[in-house]
Amino acid sequence: MTFKELGLIPAILRTLEEQGYKKPTPIQQQSIPILLKGRDLLGCAQTGTGKTAAFAIPIIQHLSAPHNEPAGRRKIKALIITPTRELATQIADSFTVYGKYTNLKNTVIFGGVKQRAQVDALRKGVDILVATPGRLLDLINQRKISLRDIEYFVLDEADQMLDMGFIHDIKKVIAMLPKQRQSLFFSATMHPKIVTLSKQILGNPERVTVQPEQTTAEKVEQSLYFVTKGNKIKLLIYLLQMNHMDSVLVFSRTKHGANKIVKLLDREGFRSAAIHGNKSQTARELALNNFKKGDLKILVATDIAARGIDIDELSYVVNYDLPNVPESYVHRIGRTGRAGSSGMAISFCDAAERAYLRDIEKLIAKKITVVHEHPYINDGLESESLQPERKHGHKRRPKPAAKPKGSGGRKNYWNKKKTGGSSRSSN
Ligand code: AMP
Repeated sequence: MTFKELGLIPAILRTLEEQGYKKPTPIQQQSIPILLKGRDLLGCAQTGTGKTAAFAIPIIQHLSAPHNEPAGRRKIKALIITPTRELATQIADSFTVYGKYTNLKNTVIFGGVKQRAQVDALRKGVDILVATPGRLLDLINQRKISLRDIEYFVLDEADQMLDMGFIHDIKKVIAMLPKQRQSLFFSATMHPKIVTLSKQILGNPERVTVQPEQTTAEKVEQSLYFVTKGNKIKLLIYLLQMNHMDSVLVFSRTKHGANKIVKLLDREGFRSAAIHGNKSQTARELALNNFKKGDLKILVATDIAARGIDIDELSYVVNYDLPNVPESYVHRIGRTGRAGSSGMAISFCDAAERAYLRDIEKLIAKKITVVHEHPYINDGLESESLQPERKHGHKRRPKPAAKPKGSGGRKNYWNKKKTGGSSRSSN
């Protein structure tokens, strides 16, 4: 199946070609025909499956049809709600890319920053609005936004919306939408609460499910290190030195923990940055951009902040803390091993995290391979392990020199003094 066979217009085919998209991903193959027919859609898919293009492309195609040419000031015809600023920005960027050869305009609004620039952009007129729920309601209440002309409504990452307590905001927004519209609802999981919410939004939807989470998990090589809480930072530094990790996303359960990891890494000469809800939008964007460009090799994140981070070629995920919600483990490791490439997920487990480990292994229906050979092994924990399968050493290690020197070798990405930036960029 090609994009052309999906019946896309030349303006979209051109940009997809420029993006190097060879063929539609499964969610795109399934969703685009449904959406082009004008049907409502209930999609069970997570970030990384290509779902943004799956909903953005049909919306762009509809809105760029000649009869939709704006007469007078543009009115918001498509509304996409998503839980985090990062996701909102990425979705808006995707609309800009996929709609590059159309006459459509989009903008993005989210909280935590002054509203002035966002209001200015809205005043100029946009066809497509991507928003987080809080700021959207604020601006609706201030009469800066009207939902009167919405024809397309997308609720993205619904399960995360519920986790983050946005349910009331979402219900308020839904109540304001015109009855006559096309609605799309995406969620990585389909808990009963999600299904109930979806029924309030969708008419008689078609359902599309892609890539059960376990499938993503299977592509990622997973390993487990038993270690005391106090030794986690030493183990992290040891692994960074041994493995030459090009891009590593380190997960901390708490914001405070993330800051602490950055500080301790810094003390050892490893540049990193934390992204979490307490960081300013500017700081988060800067860290993310530097990471995407390859200038920064280590990003330390909490689950909420990392959801939806779209980074191609992320080679390692390190679960510095195991998540207490097992589904988060699958989300985390899904950050690597994207788009068919293989990835590595390394998890640290201290005594207090054994119960979390059990829940995770139950969810993914397999035991994570324990690495026994490392200097910080916590023997007490190891002997308790139920792990039947043993693995000696980490697959990608050892590489002899931790920090190669000299112009002929790799750049030393880890030292504070940068020796030159990589020009790789994603997106
Ligand atoms: P998403 O699930 O929307 O976050 O997309 C994940 C990543 O896949 C993004 O970096 C997209 O640019 C990329 N992507 C989306 N569709 C395709 C495609 N058909 N071929 C290759 N890459 C794609």
